[in-house]
Amino acid sequence: MRGSLYVKLIMAYIIFGILSFTSIAILSSKMTYNYLIKTKSKTLYDEANLIANAYSNNYIENTTSLIEAYPQIKLVGTFLHSDVWIIDNNGKIILDSSDQNTNKLINNFNPINFANKSYIIGSFFDSFSYEVLSVLAPISANYKIYGYVLIHNPITNLNKDANDILNIIYLSSIIIFGLSLLILFIFHTQIYMPLRTITVAAKQYALGNLKYQINVANTDDEIGYLAGTLNYMSNELSKAEDYQRDFITNISHDFRSPLTSIKGFLEAILDKTIPYEMQDKYIEKVLNETSRLTKLTNGILSLNQNDTKAYLHRSDFDINNVIKKVAESFETQCIDKNITLELNFFNELSIVNADINKIEQVLYNLIDNSIKFSNKNSTIFISTTKKYEKLFISIKDTGIGIPKNNINKIFDRFYKSDLSRGKDKRGTGLGLAIVKDIILSHKETIDVISTEGIGSEFIFSLRLSHKEYIEF
Ligand code: ADP
Repeated sequence: MRGSLYVKLIMAYIIFGILSFTSIAILSSKMTYNYLIKTKSKTLYDEANLIANAYSNNYIENTTSLIEAYPQIKLVGTFLHSDVWIIDNNGKIILDSSDQNTNKLINNFNPINFANKSYIIGSFFDSFSYEVLSVLAPISANYKIYGYVLIHNPITNLNKDANDILNIIYLSSIIIFGLSLLILFIFHTQIYMPLRTITVAAKQYALGNLKYQINVANTDDEIGYLAGTLNYMSNELSKAEDYQRDFITNISHDFRSPLTSIKGFLEAILDKTIPYEMQDKYIEKVLNETSRLTKLTNGILSLNQNDTKAYLHRSDFDINNVIKKVAESFETQCIDKNITLELNFFNELSIVNADINKIEQVLYNLIDNSIKFSNKNSTIFISTTKKYEKLFISIKDTGIGIPKNNINKIFDRFYKSDLSRGKDKRGTGLGLAIVKDIILSHKETIDVISTEGIGSEFIFSLRLSHKEYIEF
């Protein structure tokens, strides 16, 4: 990982820095030098021309005395940090601003050397031991050249100016390089490091460590959002894993106890521990245990079906009819415990829109519980009420009730309250979980009101059919 993208990026950055710095250095020094020579030679040439023109007039008017020009030439020379010469056609120096070369003859002087250039760079016909930039302007009058004005500026002056400008350019490049280094640092801390943390976390998740939490300090940007989402995902996966583990533990436990009893009873019958005349009683117990196992298997299948979000087969039907039908199926249990089911409908006909088979199962589980947990000789009230487009169905008993601290758990899978264990040995703890799943898949609600020792009421809602809603 380290050897890949990140290192490549750093290497690219360093190479980019070196290349750009070198090219800036080469290009800018060349360009600055050329620019300075151009501007300097132009300034010197203009000055030389000014002097030449002034003395041309003297020649035209025949009033010339070059000696008079000396103070002005000296002034210009000092001002321009240059040597100003006036020479005649033969190359003899008539005036020198520094006064050192006056009357000297420039060997091989030939103005043709300037050709069409306004300046030349060099030792000017070996007159200087160092490099100078020389410009030349002719003193002419009446179409005749009388001499030349020459200005020589040492190249070292020019180099000094060039260095001053280059220093500014180099300093700016160093500042830009430094700033980009800062950007690289920000990239490193704000993007690279958090991404690395996320990658480490992803590896941990892949290894099965779903409890691993990503700590990314900045939570406002996309990376923070990604880290948050991954944390959420791992939490959910971890919960699902815990849930799956609990689920298997519960199933194994709930299957093992009836199987142990069945095994025990059958072995006792086989080895005649249970006498022949008692066998029917124990075979009935075995049958009860097998029906509990069947109920458990059906419950798990039903939950699994709801889990996979099995498609709801919605239709319009009369809920009163369904309630009556389900209530009738409990006739035997009611007779056994002398329980009365009192039905009280809001209207003769209440058409709801839902999955009829699933709602039948909800009613079955709720009525089954209320009978199981009701005392003998009691009444269970089943009623419907309407509010806006909803119909509320209530199943209310006067049974054992649910302890306050258990009420939140009764919809959990495999939950059986301690109170109920004694009353209902065949309970699976899946009935209410199935009820809740079905109601939620209908996007409806289910509530419970219960007081220990007084009774419980379960109320769930259903959507009235569109027609029904308009009519009322
Ligand atoms: P079970 O198969 O055990 O009935 P349920 O999921 O249907 O499983 O119910 C879970 C638990 O909720 C029950 O064990 C019982 O403690 C409690 N419960 C459900 N309905 C009632 C009720 N009408 N009265 C009292 N307790 C109830």
